[in-house]
Amino acid sequence: MQRVLIVEDEVDIADLVMFNLQRAGYEVLKAHDGIRGTEMAIAERPDLIVLDLMLPGRDGYSVFREVRRDARSSHIPIIMLTARAQTEDRIQGLEAGADDYLSKPFSPKELVLRVNAILKRSEAPPGAVEFEYGPFRFDKNAVRFYLEKEPVDLTSTEFKLLLYLCERAEKTQDRNDLLRTVWGYSDEVHSRTLDTHMKRLRQKLGSHGAWVETVRGIGYRAAPPEA
Ligand code: CA
Repeated sequence: MQRVLIVEDEVDIADLVMFNLQRAGYEVLKAHDGIRGTEMAIAERPDLIVLDLMLPGRDGYSVFREVRRDARSSHIPIIMLTARAQTEDRIQGLEAGADDYLSKPFSPKELVLRVNAILKRSEAPPGAVEFEYGPFRFDKNAVRFYLEKEPVDLTSTEFKLLLYLCERAEKTQDRNDLLRTVWGYSDEVHSRTLDTHMKRLRQKLGSHGAWVETVRGIGYRAAPPEA
C-alpha cells in the first residue's frame, strides 16, 4: 500500500484529505506542524507528501527545502497546498520544485486525482525495466537513474520527464504533450513549472545536461550534444 504524508495544521482539512486518500486506497500519515512534518518525511519516507505552506513551527517552504536537501527524502514527490491563490505564490512553489500545486479551497477529489497521477507515473510499465540512452540508464522498476553508472537522485517528475524524452530520442516533444504526460493537464502555471523542472534536471545532469535540448517555441528533445 502506498503511503501519503499530510503536513497540515488545520485539523479539519487534514482529516478530510486523509479520509479521501484512505478511501482511494492509500495509507495516510499526518503531521500538524512543520517540524514534525520534516521529521516524519525523513524518518518514514512516504511515497508522496501533501504539504501545506502556512504551518506553525516551520513554514512549508522551509520543510520543502529540508526534505529536498536530505538524501533520504529528496526523491519524494511533493504536492503543495496554500490558502493564498495569488499567482506569485503558486509560481514560487513551483519554482521551488514542487511536483504539483493546489490552491485552497480545493476539492479533495481533485487532490486524490493529482496524487494518483503522480504515483501512477512512478510505476514501472510491464516489460522492459531498464532503459539506456547515451550516458543515461533508467531502472524503471526502482525508479532509479544512473549517469555513467553513478546513481543520481532525481525526483519522480524529473525521472519521468527525462525517460519520456529519451524513449523518444531525437524527436522534439511538444510542450503540451509533455505537460499532459507528466502532470495530466496543461495550463499556464504548469507550463512554467515544466521549464523549472527542466532547468533543475539539467543541473543534476551536470556536463551531460546538453543531452536535453530546448527547441524554442516548441518543446524539448533528447539528442547527443553537438560537438
Ligand atoms: Ca495551514
